[in-house]
Amino acid sequence: MTHTPSADNSVDARLAAALERLGQAVRTAWVEAGQAFGLSALQSQILVYLLQNAQGARLRPSAVAERLQVTRATLSDALAALETKGLLQRIPSTIDRRARELKLTPQGRRTAAKLSRWNAAMVQVLRSLPAGEKGRLLDLLLRLIAELQACGLITIARMCRSCAFFEPDVHDAPEAPHHCRLLDQPLKLVELRVDCPDYQPVE
Ligand code: SF4
Repeated sequence: MTHTPSADNSVDARLAAALERLGQAVRTAWVEAGQAFGLSALQSQILVYLLQNAQGARLRPSAVAERLQVTRATLSDALAALETKGLLQRIPSTIDRRARELKLTPQGRRTAAKLSRWNAAMVQVLRSLPAGEKGRLLDLLLRLIAELQACGLITIARMCRSCAFFEPDVHDAPEAPHHCRLLDQPLKLVELRVDCPDYQPVE
Protein backbone atom coordinates (compact mmCIF):
# COMPACT_ATOMS: atom_id res chain seq x y z
CA MET A 1 0.00 0.00 0.00
CA THR A 2 1.39 3.41 -0.91
CA HIS A 3 1.11 6.39 1.37
CA THR A 4 0.48 9.86 0.02
CA PRO A 5 2.67 12.47 1.66
CA SER A 6 0.72 14.03 4.52
CA ALA A 7 0.92 17.63 5.69
CA ASP A 8 3.22 18.36 8.61
CA ASN A 9 0.97 18.01 11.66
CA SER A 10 3.63 18.74 14.27
CA VAL A 11 2.81 21.19 17.02
CA ASP A 12 5.37 23.57 15.48
CA ALA A 13 3.60 23.51 12.11
CA ARG A 14 0.24 24.08 13.82
CA LEU A 15 1.70 26.98 15.81
CA ALA A 16 3.01 28.50 12.56
CA ALA A 17 -0.47 28.03 11.04
CA ALA A 18 -2.05 29.72 14.07
CA LEU A 19 0.35 32.67 13.71
CA GLU A 20 -0.57 32.90 10.05
CA ARG A 21 -4.25 33.21 11.04
CA LEU A 22 -3.34 35.96 13.48
CA GLY A 23 -1.44 37.72 10.70
CA GLN A 24 -4.61 37.56 8.59
CA ALA A 25 -6.61 39.12 11.42
CA VAL A 26 -4.11 41.98 11.65
CA ARG A 27 -4.21 42.59 7.90
CA THR A 28 -8.02 42.55 7.91
CA ALA A 29 -8.13 45.02 10.81
CA TRP A 30 -5.89 47.47 8.92
CA VAL A 31 -7.91 47.09 5.71
CA GLU A 32 -11.21 47.73 7.49
CA ALA A 33 -9.83 50.70 9.44
CA GLY A 34 -8.53 52.31 6.24
CA GLN A 35 -11.75 51.71 4.28
CA ALA A 36 -13.62 54.13 6.56
CA PHE A 37 -11.31 56.91 5.28
CA GLY A 38 -10.84 55.74 1.69
CA LEU A 39 -7.29 54.64 2.45
CA SER A 40 -5.38 51.43 1.78
CA ALA A 41 -3.98 49.40 4.66
CA LEU A 42 -0.46 50.62 3.89
CA GLN A 43 -1.54 54.28 3.69
CA SER A 44 -3.23 53.87 7.09
CA GLN A 45 -0.14 52.25 8.60
CA ILE A 46 2.05 55.11 7.34
CA LEU A 47 -0.17 57.75 8.94
CA VAL A 48 -0.29 55.95 12.30
CA TYR A 49 3.44 55.26 12.25
CA LEU A 50 4.21 58.92 11.58
CA LEU A 51 1.84 60.04 14.33
CA GLN A 52 3.34 57.67 16.89
CA ASN A 53 7.00 58.03 15.99
CA ALA A 54 7.77 61.47 14.61
CA GLN A 55 7.38 63.16 18.06
CA GLY A 56 7.80 66.61 16.57
CA ALA A 57 10.68 65.51 14.35
CA ARG A 58 10.19 64.39 10.76
CA LEU A 59 10.96 60.97 9.44
CA ARG A 60 12.72 60.05 6.23
CA PRO A 61 10.89 57.76 3.77
CA SER A 62 13.70 55.20 4.09
CA ALA A 63 13.04 54.82 7.84
CA VAL A 64 9.32 54.29 7.23
CA ALA A 65 9.97 51.77 4.41
CA GLU A 66 12.30 49.79 6.67
CA ARG A 67 9.90 49.78 9.63
CA LEU A 68 6.86 48.80 7.53
CA GLN A 69 8.92 46.32 5.51
CA VAL A 70 7.96 47.58 2.06
CA THR A 71 10.09 48.53 -0.92
CA ARG A 72 10.92 52.20 -1.55
CA ALA A 73 8.82 52.06 -4.75
CA THR A 74 5.74 50.72 -2.94
CA LEU A 75 6.15 53.32 -0.21
CA SER A 76 6.62 56.09 -2.76
CA ASP A 77 3.26 55.25 -4.42
CA ALA A 78 1.48 55.29 -1.05
CA LEU A 79 3.14 58.60 -0.07
CA ALA A 80 2.07 60.19 -3.35
CA ALA A 81 -1.55 59.11 -2.72
CA LEU A 82 -1.47 60.52 0.82
CA GLU A 83 -0.04 63.78 -0.48
CA THR A 84 -2.81 64.03 -3.10
CA LYS A 85 -5.41 63.51 -0.36
CA GLY A 86 -3.88 66.38 1.64
CA LEU A 87 -2.85 64.15 4.55
CA LEU A 88 0.92 64.37 4.26
CA GLN A 89 3.71 66.58 2.93
CA ARG A 90 7.14 65.64 1.65
CA ILE A 91 9.40 68.56 2.46
CA PRO A 92 13.15 69.17 2.12
CA SER A 93 15.23 68.05 5.10
CA THR A 94 16.68 70.86 7.22
CA ILE A 95 19.91 68.84 7.46
CA ASP A 96 20.28 67.69 3.85
CA ARG A 97 18.31 69.76 1.28
CA ARG A 98 18.46 66.92 -1.27
CA ALA A 99 16.65 64.55 1.10
CA ARG A 100 12.92 64.57 1.80
CA GLU A 101 11.20 64.28 5.17
CA LEU A 102 7.61 63.38 5.93
CA LYS A 103 5.21 65.62 7.79
CA LEU A 104 1.54 65.05 8.59
CA THR A 105 -0.83 67.88 7.73
CA PRO A 106 -3.38 68.88 10.42
CA GLN A 107 -5.97 66.77 8.57
CA GLY A 108 -3.45 63.92 8.42
CA ARG A 109 -2.92 64.11 12.19
CA ARG A 110 -6.66 64.00 12.84
CA THR A 111 -7.10 61.02 10.50
CA ALA A 112 -4.09 59.22 12.02
CA ALA A 113 -5.49 59.73 15.53
CA LYS A 114 -8.74 58.04 14.50
CA LEU A 115 -6.86 55.25 12.69
CA SER A 116 -4.81 54.61 15.84
CA ARG A 117 -7.79 52.63 17.09
CA TRP A 118 -7.40 50.14 14.21
CA ASN A 119 -6.70 47.35 16.74
CA ALA A 120 -9.66 48.07 19.06
CA ALA A 121 -11.32 44.69 18.43
CA MET A 122 -8.12 42.79 19.21
CA VAL A 123 -7.47 44.83 22.35
CA GLN A 124 -11.04 44.08 23.45
CA VAL A 125 -10.50 40.34 23.01
CA LEU A 126 -7.17 40.42 24.87
CA ARG A 127 -8.69 42.40 27.73
CA SER A 128 -10.58 39.30 28.87
CA LEU A 129 -7.37 37.25 29.42
CA PRO A 130 -6.12 36.89 33.02
CA ALA A 131 -3.17 39.24 33.78
CA GLY A 132 -0.75 36.34 34.43
CA GLU A 133 -1.51 34.76 31.05
CA LYS A 134 -1.08 38.12 29.33
CA GLY A 135 2.39 38.55 30.83
CA ARG A 136 3.50 35.07 29.76
CA LEU A 137 2.00 35.55 26.31
CA LEU A 138 3.77 38.89 25.86
CA ASP A 139 7.08 37.36 26.99
CA LEU A 140 6.67 34.46 24.55
CA LEU A 141 5.67 36.70 21.64
CA LEU A 142 8.69 38.95 22.21
CA ARG A 143 10.95 35.89 22.18
CA LEU A 144 9.40 34.83 18.88
CA ILE A 145 9.81 38.31 17.40
CA ALA A 146 13.46 38.38 18.50
CA GLU A 147 14.05 35.02 16.78
CA LEU A 148 12.27 36.21 13.62
CA GLN A 149 14.36 39.39 13.72
CA ALA A 150 17.54 37.30 14.05
CA CYS A 151 16.63 35.31 10.91
CA GLY A 152 15.69 38.46 8.97
CA LEU A 153 11.89 38.06 8.72
CA ILE A 154 11.30 41.15 10.88
CA THR A 155 13.49 44.18 10.33
CA ILE A 156 13.01 46.59 13.22
CA ALA A 157 11.68 45.77 16.66
CA ARG A 158 12.63 48.22 19.42
CA MET A 159 11.68 45.78 22.14
CA CYS A 160 13.11 44.41 25.38
CA ARG A 161 14.10 40.98 24.06
CA SER A 162 16.53 42.37 21.50
CA CYS A 163 17.74 45.33 23.60
CA ALA A 164 21.32 45.73 24.85
CA PHE A 165 19.97 46.68 28.30
CA PHE A 166 17.89 43.50 28.66
CA GLU A 167 18.98 40.76 31.08
CA PRO A 168 16.73 37.67 30.87
CA ASP A 169 15.80 35.44 33.81
CA VAL A 170 17.95 37.04 36.52
CA HIS A 171 15.23 37.39 39.20
CA ASP A 172 13.33 34.67 41.07
CA ALA A 173 9.93 36.38 40.91
CA PRO A 174 7.93 34.55 38.18
CA GLU A 175 5.93 37.69 37.34
CA ALA A 176 9.12 39.80 36.93
CA PRO A 177 12.08 37.53 36.01
CA HIS A 178 13.92 39.90 33.63
CA HIS A 179 15.91 43.08 34.29
CA CYS A 180 16.47 46.38 32.49
CA ARG A 181 19.97 47.72 33.10
CA LEU A 182 19.01 51.19 31.89
CA LEU A 183 16.12 51.54 34.35
CA ASP A 184 18.06 49.37 36.83
CA GLN A 185 14.94 47.53 37.87
CA PRO A 186 13.17 44.22 37.31
CA LEU A 187 10.77 44.16 34.39
CA LYS A 188 7.33 42.77 35.02
CA LEU A 189 6.25 40.46 32.18
CA VAL A 190 3.15 42.58 31.63
CA GLU A 191 5.38 45.69 31.28
CA LEU A 192 7.78 44.33 28.65
CA ARG A 193 8.14 46.95 25.88
CA VAL A 194 7.34 46.33 22.23
CA ASP A 195 8.42 49.77 21.00
CA CYS A 196 10.65 51.39 23.62
CA PRO A 197 12.12 54.89 23.01
CA ASP A 198 15.19 53.92 25.11
CA TYR A 199 15.84 50.73 23.13
CA GLN A 200 19.51 50.12 22.34
CA PRO A 201 20.45 47.55 19.70
CA VAL A 202 23.02 44.94 20.69
CA GLU A 203 26.39 45.83 19.08
S1 SF4 B 1 15.68 50.12 27.63
FE1 SF4 B 1 13.53 49.74 27.05
S2 SF4 B 1 13.65 48.04 25.56
FE2 SF4 B 1 15.60 48.12 26.64
S3 SF4 B 1 15.36 46.61 28.31
FE3 SF4 B 1 14.88 48.65 29.14
S4 SF4 B 1 12.65 48.83 28.93
FE4 SF4 B 1 13.31 47.14 27.60
